[in-house]
Amino acid sequence: MSKTPMHCPGFEQFKSLESFLCRCPECDEEREIFSDEFDKAHTCSKCGKQIDFSKCQPY
Ligand SMILES: [Zn+2]
Repeated sequence: MSKTPMHCPGFEQFKSLESFLCRCPECDEEREIFSDEFDKAHTCSKCGKQIDFSKCQPY
């Protein structure tokens, strides 16, 4: 009898991570956001305003 090796479910998260550069509409502060963080809310570290993802551009 042989056992098949189990795959760690979190392992796939390391595949090609992209980073995007967003600019705060209020104070123009740049913020780098990774492609696995798109489902999270991001706020500017300077003024605290939420950053609009539609203004992100691939970096
Ligand atoms: Zn800001």
